[in-house]
Amino acid sequence: MVSLGEHTPQHLHQHRSDGQSGDALFCPLALLPQGWRKDVLLRWDAAGNLVDVSPGSAAGEARSACGPVIAGMPNLHSHAFQRAMAGLTEVMGSPSDSFWSWRKLMYRFAQRLQPEHLEAIARHLYIEMLKAGYTSVCEFHYLHHAPGGTPYADRAELALRLMQAAAEAGIGMTLLPVLYQYSGFGRQAASAEQARFLGSPQSLLALRERLQQVLPENPMRRYGVAPHSLRAVSPEGLDELVSGLRQQPGGRDAPIHIHIAEQWREIQDCLAWSGQRPVQLLLSQQELDARWCLIHATHMDLGEYRGLAASGAVVGLCPTTEANLGDGIIDAGQLLESGTRWGIGSDSHIAINLRAELRLLEYGQRLHHRRRNVLASESVPATADRLFVQAQAGGAAATGRAVAGLAVGQRADFVLLDGEDVNLADRSPAQLLSALVFCEHDGQPIQDVYVGGRQVVTAGRHPLQETARQAYRRAIADLLKD
Ligand code: ZN
Repeated sequence: MVSLGEHTPQHLHQHRSDGQSGDALFCPLALLPQGWRKDVLLRWDAAGNLVDVSPGSAAGEARSACGPVIAGMPNLHSHAFQRAMAGLTEVMGSPSDSFWSWRKLMYRFAQRLQPEHLEAIARHLYIEMLKAGYTSVCEFHYLHHAPGGTPYADRAELALRLMQAAAEAGIGMTLLPVLYQYSGFGRQAASAEQARFLGSPQSLLALRERLQQVLPENPMRRYGVAPHSLRAVSPEGLDELVSGLRQQPGGRDAPIHIHIAEQWREIQDCLAWSGQRPVQLLLSQQELDARWCLIHATHMDLGEYRGLAASGAVVGLCPTTEANLGDGIIDAGQLLESGTRWGIGSDSHIAINLRAELRLLEYGQRLHHRRRNVLASESVPATADRLFVQAQAGGAAATGRAVAGLAVGQRADFVLLDGEDVNLADRSPAQLLSALVFCEHDGQPIQDVYVGGRQVVTAGRHPLQETARQAYRRAIADLLKD
């Protein structure tokens, strides 16, 4: 394990919180769940939990933030290894190139991946996330076995590589081991390419138990489960997984994530098999509640929007990946109007940029409806403000961790924006998030990032970024060589 700070210029250690004793920060301007507030004193304890969030305070002994402070954004959907494929699948394979041809390439790539590759890719990725303002990640982890499908001596080998990468980077982690049983609706046999993914409800629950033994849950890490999709898991398998999870330590309120209604073909196949649409089918099979996060949910009808809103489940939107894969466009106006909770994920990692995710979510609606500010509301007329606050809250719920913004009892996860950035300077608080989301030029206007009260990014730099980048490049070179 590389020690944090090994290759860090000395000046980056100034004002660095070691997270051992608790600390405080005075914020001339901070975005709280109830809106922008001035002169906010943040205090957190040694465990990294906020114990005081007081607007209208004096700075006292606390050091002062150099720019506006916003809550860290949870990234609610990640397949870490796919970061290494970004840009590799943009050449036409057939005139009807689609998600399904992309998936073929992804499978081929996944066959070559070794544990060392995965760890190097994930460490680099999680550092990129932190630098972009994501302070938590939900890892939808389906690569379980060695190439060919033989289990590793330790069945948690690859999951533990991801946990190690997250710990070194310093990002909050919700690991979701994936149950993958079949290749299609009606228990179609899995293909040879899917052999690395396969498991049973019992093997998944055993994996989660093993993770709890090796690295027990704590405020920085949480374990849920992820039935891959309704096409890859049988109704009985889903029942067994969900009821088995309830019996496990920390299982009663553990997050459950599932891919759903992403592809048009999936809707047609589900209708042909069950007579119901995927979200409708899930709503009728399971008692959805706040533990559930439905990834994509791109294609829904009105009844499905209403059912989801009533359930308390979160929808996980991944706009840049959904655009890249040609999934289609969710009716986001309907989603927000229904009151459904939602958050954002970078999924296949063609971009690690929460601003791009929020912007594309709005732009998809503008292009479709030929209007502007489609996702604003009368009570929150600034589109970016509405999107940021809702994505933060929904994303937090999806992590199953206490990361719901700058409030007492939540984790001290926050981002100091660069107050001198040409696109942010001289803006009123009401204009700041609009500038952040809709005015993007060179680089990220992010100065410092804190996770659980520990400073992990200083002046735009992460102390491990160079070593992580070199290891990542070695992994890529190895994976791409013939
Ligand atoms: Zn996914």
